[in-house]
Amino acid sequence: MLEKSKLDRLAEVVDELTITERDFTGDDMPEVGQDIEKIPYFFAFTALQMCGTGRKVDGEVGCSRIWSRFYEKWCEDRHFFDPGTAAGTSYAEMEKVLDFSDRGLWVSDKDLYWRWQLHRGLGRHISTIPDFSFANMRIAFLEGFNYDPFEKKANLLRMILACRPERFVDNHQYGPVVDYHVMRLLIRTGVIPFQEAMQSKNMAMGERMLRESAFSAIVNLKMKTGKSYNQLDTLFWSTGRQICRPFKIRCRHCPFEQVCSNKSAIEIRIDTMNY
Ligand code: SF4
Repeated sequence: MLEKSKLDRLAEVVDELTITERDFTGDDMPEVGQDIEKIPYFFAFTALQMCGTGRKVDGEVGCSRIWSRFYEKWCEDRHFFDPGTAAGTSYAEMEKVLDFSDRGLWVSDKDLYWRWQLHRGLGRHISTIPDFSFANMRIAFLEGFNYDPFEKKANLLRMILACRPERFVDNHQYGPVVDYHVMRLLIRTGVIPFQEAMQSKNMAMGERMLRESAFSAIVNLKMKTGKSYNQLDTLFWSTGRQICRPFKIRCRHCPFEQVCSNKSAIEIRIDTMNY
């Protein structure tokens, strides 16, 4: 369910852009070469938390702050992301790691509990696999990564492990990382026609259709432009976070301004429940 003419125009714009692939080093990322065998675990457990749990209210933290807090924990304790340690993490310990009260922010009880369970579940799962390695493992089978038909978090993790300088996996067969920034942009640019019914009647079905359309749009953009999924994700994710935001939208700074036909839809807010 894509608006083909809009997709073609968007592809022309994307094709003209110079986009540097992320190598997942730098801010909030483990340094290259240090504790090299532990780095994939940091990313596996942290990528697992790159998901929303529904609509947030002012002051409630999102997954980027949680990533940042995990990185601080990684700097303090390299064993925190060892599968055995993760499997035995207590609720109180996770509560301490994700305590943002010093900044006047908070994680809801439901969100905290769910993230704690994700962390422990993945730790338990990896601990049961003899001679585990990410290079030999189908990542989408791992606990916590295994319930999404579009493999958003699995693709993010594959991308990170494949594009880090260490090349933890040499398989570049990762797919699109379809998150709500990507969906919001594709709706606002008019590539995905938006229907009110999607939001009101059956949210789960509506969301599934939106995600499938967004997945298809990114696959098409890759074929039309020759850009990698890493480049496309870098473009859409950063534009969605910094420019085409749910609120305080900044169209004047947007690379898609000349083709965007749906700027009035600034109220659109998509929640990828649990993805
Ligand atoms: S022009 Fe505005 S509404 Fe359209 S994609 Fe860019 S920021 Fe979003």
